[in-house]
Amino acid sequence: MSLIVTNDLKAVLPLEEQLAATRRLVKETLSPLTVKIDLEGLYPESFLRQLGAIDGFRQHLAAARPDGVTDMGAAIQTMAAVSHECLSTGFATWCQDTCGWYLQNAVDSGVRDTWLPKLASGEVLGGTGMSNTMKAFANIEPLRLTGRRVDGGYVINGSLPWVSNLGDNHVFGTLFGLEGQGDRSVMALVDCSVEGFELRLSAHFTALEGTRTFACIFRDVFVPDAMVIDHDGAAFLRRSRAGIVLLQFGMGVGNVQSCIDLCRDVEPLLGHVNGYLDDRPDELQEQLDDAVDACLALAEDPFETSDEFFREILQLRLAAGELALRAAQSAMLHTGAKGYLRTAPAQRKLRESYFIAIVTPAIKHLRKELDVLSQAA
Ligand SMILES: Cc1cc2nc3c(=O)[nH]c(=O)nc-3n(C[C@H](O)[C@H](O)[C@H](O)COP(=O)(O)OP(=O)(O)OC[C@H]3O[C@@H](n4cnc5c(N)ncnc54)[C@H](O)[C@@H]3O)c2cc1C
Repeated sequence: MSLIVTNDLKAVLPLEEQLAATRRLVKETLSPLTVKIDLEGLYPESFLRQLGAIDGFRQHLAAARPDGVTDMGAAIQTMAAVSHECLSTGFATWCQDTCGWYLQNAVDSGVRDTWLPKLASGEVLGGTGMSNTMKAFANIEPLRLTGRRVDGGYVINGSLPWVSNLGDNHVFGTLFGLEGQGDRSVMALVDCSVEGFELRLSAHFTALEGTRTFACIFRDVFVPDAMVIDHDGAAFLRRSRAGIVLLQFGMGVGNVQSCIDLCRDVEPLLGHVNGYLDDRPDELQEQLDDAVDACLALAEDPFETSDEFFREILQLRLAAGELALRAAQSAMLHTGAKGYLRTAPAQRKLRESYFIAIVTPAIKHLRKELDVLSQAA
C-alpha cells in the first residue's frame, strides 16, 4: 500500500465549468451507451474514470481539495447531470461519492490519506455496503456482518446481499457488529481483493443492471486496523448520515428532470391532448425547483448531526422519492406508445424511478424512521 502525499492536491474546477464539462462528457461518452447499460448490463467504467478526471467525485471531499471546502451541493448537481441520462451510472456515481464521504469522515487519518485521493480522482472505484447498517439502526433487520477483535485488526464473517460499483480491484465502506459486545460496531473500508472475500453475481435486475451489483461474502476476512474508518460505528453513522442521504438527491433530481424534459419534448405534437393529464411538466418543474432549493440549503451543512436536521433531510428525501414515481408515471402517460418501446427513455425512467423509491432509505423505511422521530420529539 503506497502512501499518498496529501499536500500536493489538485485544484478543483469552478462549479459552472465542472458542470459544463460533465454535461459534455455525458453527451459524448455516456449517452451512446445508455441502452446497452440498461438492457445488457454494461458497466460504464471508462465514463466513471473520465468523470473522476474532471473532478466529478471530488467536490464534497475537503481532504481532496487544496481549498479545504466541502461543496456537497456541487457533488449533488454533478450526480444529477449524470442521472439525467442514466440512473445506473448516476447510482455508481453516488456509490463512489459516498465511499469518499466515509473516508472524509474517518477518525483515523491513515485510511483517509491512503485511499481518499484515489477515490476522489477515480483511480480506484468504490462502493458502499451500508443499506443493512441503516436498516439495522432503524430496527428493520439485524446486522449481517460480525467481527471479532484479533491482533492488529478484526476478522469478519457474514454476507451482504447487494453492493454496487464493485470489482476485484475496488473497495467499499461497510459496518460490522462486534461479536459478544452488545451494540458495539466498527466502520471499515474493505478491499475486494482481500483473502476470504468473495463477490458473487447472484441476481439480475429490471433496472440498474449496469451497476456491477454483487452479493458480498465474508469468510474469516481479516481487516487490518489500517483499514478501520472508525472503531465506533454508531458515532460514525451519526456523523456521516446527513451527507449519505443528501448525496442521493443527485439521483432523484436527475431522474425527475429527465422525466419533465420528456413530457416537454412531446408538447408540440401532443399538447392538445396531453393537457388533460395530471402532473403536467410545469407543475412538476415547480415542485422539483422547490425541492432542489431546499436540498441545496440543507447541503450547506452536511456535518450537522442533530436529529431535527436529519428529520428535515429524511422528509425531503421522502418527497423526492414520491416525486420521482409521479414524474416517471407522467413521462409514460405524456409520451404514450412511443414511450412504451423497449429502448424508449420513458419506460427506462419508470423502472429507474422505482429504484429511488426502494434504495435504502426506501419510502417505507423513511416513513418508519420519520414516525419514530416524531414520537421521540
Ligand atoms: C440494483 C440494486 C443495487 C443495490 N445496491 C446496493 C449497494 O450498493 N449497497 C447497499 O448497501 N445496498 C444496495 N442495495 C439494497 C437497497 O439499498 C435496499 O436495501 C434494498 O433494495 C431493499 O432491501 P430489501 O428488499 O431487503 O428490504 P425489504 O424487502 O423491505 O426487507 C426488509 C428486511 O426484512 C426482512 N424480511 C423480509 N421478509 C421477512 C419475514 N417474513 N420475516 C422476517 N424478516 C423478513 C428482509 O430480509 C430484510 O432484511 C441495492 C439494491 C438493488 C436492487
